[in-house]
Amino acid sequence: MAGDKLTLVFFVDALGWEIARELDCFRDIAPYSYRQRTVLGYSCAAQPTILTGLMPDVHGHWGMFYRTEHSELSELRCLRFLPKTVSSHRRFRRPLLSYHRKHTGFTGYYNFYRIPFHLFEEFDLIEKRDIYAPGAFASGARSIFDHLADGCVPYQVWTWKNELDEGFAELETAVRGDPEMRFALHYTPYIDAFLHGHVGDREAVAGAVALIEKKISRVVELARKTRADVDVIIFSDHGMAETTGEHDVMKTVMGLSLRQGRDYHVFYDSTMARFWFESPHARDTIISALEKLDCGATLSDDDLKREGVFFDDNRFGEVVFLMNPTKLIVPSYMGGKAPRGMHGFSPEHKDSYAMLAASFRVDPEPTHIRDSFRVMMQAVGLQAATTLEKDSGSSGPDGTISDANRETAA
Ligand SMILES: [Zn+2]
Repeated sequence: MAGDKLTLVFFVDALGWEIARELDCFRDIAPYSYRQRTVLGYSCAAQPTILTGLMPDVHGHWGMFYRTEHSELSELRCLRFLPKTVSSHRRFRRPLLSYHRKHTGFTGYYNFYRIPFHLFEEFDLIEKRDIYAPGAFASGARSIFDHLADGCVPYQVWTWKNELDEGFAELETAVRGDPEMRFALHYTPYIDAFLHGHVGDREAVAGAVALIEKKISRVVELARKTRADVDVIIFSDHGMAETTGEHDVMKTVMGLSLRQGRDYHVFYDSTMARFWFESPHARDTIISALEKLDCGATLSDDDLKREGVFFDDNRFGEVVFLMNPTKLIVPSYMGGKAPRGMHGFSPEHKDSYAMLAASFRVDPEPTHIRDSFRVMMQAVGLQAATTLEKDSGSSGPDGTISDANRETAA
């Protein structure tokens, strides 16, 4: 292993393959680019897959919230009597979130969005620990950070906790002043936030991507002046689709003379509604109502298994209704209005695909976001030594268990 080698990884949330290709991003610093299939779900599923090389049904993170009888969020229930004008307001929810973080010590990424407070009695958070640090997964899944720590590879990481300019400035300082550092990962949610509001506005999107590209290029140039050998890897977790319609699934379900909490339980994400049932009658009634909707479809267990998101304890839902690409559930527990852009549709939709660009040719070619893990491991000279064992449900979308999933010596 070359002592002077530095691997620079830039994780640009939501910079999908389509937009990156259209704008011909990173041509000079990372000319080898690859289209990567994402996982069904949101960043809270995709990021763990990138960091561990495992599918959600193996690393254990799919939805941000899962259903349980022992929710560690249950004390938030006491806020259920607040008037909606107060409880759904940003000026209330933001400080509440910072207070909650301090009070619980949860270091993972989460948000209460517009989730009714009484639901926290039965819904708990999956990402309680920072996934950008070792030891994050209750399933025992090991991420790139566990491998870096075990291999005593000096590394630094910047995440959603850092402001954009601050993160890049600190990274530049580290590149200049930390000759020991061999791996640096810089994550930014900037493009994700921008595209939610501006996808489809070609000029505005080009400007935002150019801003990030400039910041990344500066770091790479600086590194190449001070280090003999610099590998650059840039990737995303999913793309962004321009939304074209919405349906009030909540209203459809509430019109069925069943009672939420007594007959059924539901979590409304922006593109998925996840259901649990208390009786066969409730199950049949809801499924037949969902089947009449032409804005989406319920997924079979086989669909979920194929996507690597099937959990036999149903913690993320017994039945999952997925909206058609570009159509949103509005209102949902995520928001009351449809944003211009959204992700979380079928991974097969063209705007769902993620990208990976590297300064070197990657062999074998990465085709799925879980391959980003392998690319990082190879670049830093580590081999995947996954300790997590799981039954046959652990296969990926193509029916094979990823290489990173197999036990090999480090
Ligand atoms: Zn997003």
